[in-house]
Amino acid sequence: MHYRYLTLEQRDTLEAEIRARSASEPALQRALRQLHQPDYGVCIECGKDIAFVRLAGDPEALHCADCARLPVTRRQ
Ligand SMILES: [Zn+2]
Repeated sequence: MHYRYLTLEQRDTLEAEIRARSASEPALQRALRQLHQPDYGVCIECGKDIAFVRLAGDPEALHCADCARLPVTRRQ
């Protein structure tokens, strides 16, 4: 668990970004729920922290830059 990975200020920044880009209410609610999960911001593939700049560009990113670059066939 990386609950303290993102500062409150960073979460606020991401929340504003999510609100600005979510096209529908269900999508917005889903993204906000995800943002407030304790393990938000941690790569679901390798468990490393996802860079804040990457999250700011895509708040719904589930993979770090390294894992996102890997072809799906190389994942286990
Ligand atoms: Zn990763």
